[in-house]
Amino acid sequence: MNETLQKELTEFLESLKKEGLYKEERIIQSPQGREITVTGEPVLNFCANNYLGLSGDRRIIEAAQRAMDEWGYGLSSVRFICGTQTLHKQLEQAISSFLKTEDTILFSSCFDANAALFEPLLGQEDAIISDELNHASIIDGVRLSKAKRLRYRHSDMGELEARLKESQESRRRLIVTDGVFSMDGDVAKLSQICDLAERYDALVAVDDSHATGYLGSHGRGSIELCGVEGRVDLITTTFGKACGGASGGCISGHKLLIDLYRQRARPYLFSNTLAPAICGGTLKVLDILSSDDELRKQTMKNARHFRTLMQDAGFDLIPAETAIVAVMVYDEAKAVELASRLLKEGIYVIGFSYPVVPKGTARIRVQLSASHTDADIARAVSAFTTVGKAMGLVN
Ligand SMILES: *Cc1c(COP(=O)(O)O)cnc(C)c1O
Repeated sequence: MNETLQKELTEFLESLKKEGLYKEERIIQSPQGREITVTGEPVLNFCANNYLGLSGDRRIIEAAQRAMDEWGYGLSSVRFICGTQTLHKQLEQAISSFLKTEDTILFSSCFDANAALFEPLLGQEDAIISDELNHASIIDGVRLSKAKRLRYRHSDMGELEARLKESQESRRRLIVTDGVFSMDGDVAKLSQICDLAERYDALVAVDDSHATGYLGSHGRGSIELCGVEGRVDLITTTFGKACGGASGGCISGHKLLIDLYRQRARPYLFSNTLAPAICGGTLKVLDILSSDDELRKQTMKNARHFRTLMQDAGFDLIPAETAIVAVMVYDEAKAVELASRLLKEGIYVIGFSYPVVPKGTARIRVQLSASHTDADIARAVSAFTTVGKAMGLVN
């Protein structure tokens, strides 16, 4: 590396630090869970996507260990060469039956699933219509396709309809949205989106990464919550959040579409098979979810409880009905300061700032889990209130 580049990079990284935009990774010295050890201290964790509290669940760990004993550590192959085991087909079937779809294709991550979603299906003569707040992996997936790109203001159905009218000439059209928006915690207006898609003959794809497993009356996500099962053509989701939290993702939907991805999706054709341990663990998660409704109910109860207490304490929250509670701070540096003062109080949360959220909308994203107790929630609200008062964020 020459000196000029070294100087440029140093200056750039320093400028991030000055603006409060530099992301420090804190080291966890324990397994993931409601209570974790950070820099030697036990803290309550309110920033994991561990919605069902399954990340450290013994049943999942043991299922993963059994899968490893039975099927080995890894496949050293992509799926179509010699990387498909009975276990992978079992997981695909289990996901299809959980999500009530025809077929499912596994990926190493949902990021990869979204990288695969568009390019095989949509070319120059087609259009992709995307919510402006969609996840980075959707945006990157869209970039990989040659289709025309149209955006609508967040959840603005009038603009979505306008985009559908503008793109009447396209051969195929696909509307794509997050099911739950990860930074605000709100749910997409899927019923209206499906109505519009049917009226204008467009396909619908929903990325339900922040919903699968805990939202909806059986944990089938925003699609179930909004009552649009059978009306969404493609679902992408992750196993790296509520469903055990290891890694892996999928696309689920019509058989023909899934077949197309098996033939043409580059992150599937050119990337290694999901490890057996993750398949075994995720199968166990689906097994637990099909017989136990309590976890999911507890997640939602905890989220509502926290939200009510924080509102009463005077915090500015983005309204939502999920386990994501966005506590608005607006100022980037203040959000970082609030999070680091909360950590000293034993509450682990993270301040989110640009480029993860738009400039001037910095926030603390609190994520509730089924594993949190009422006492945990009370402690978190009390810490927010103490620090919030000291910083002049609430009275
Ligand atoms: C987390 C997330 C992803 C990425 O999932 P991974 O499996 O971790 O790659 C994709 N889309 C959305 C909406 C997400 O929230």
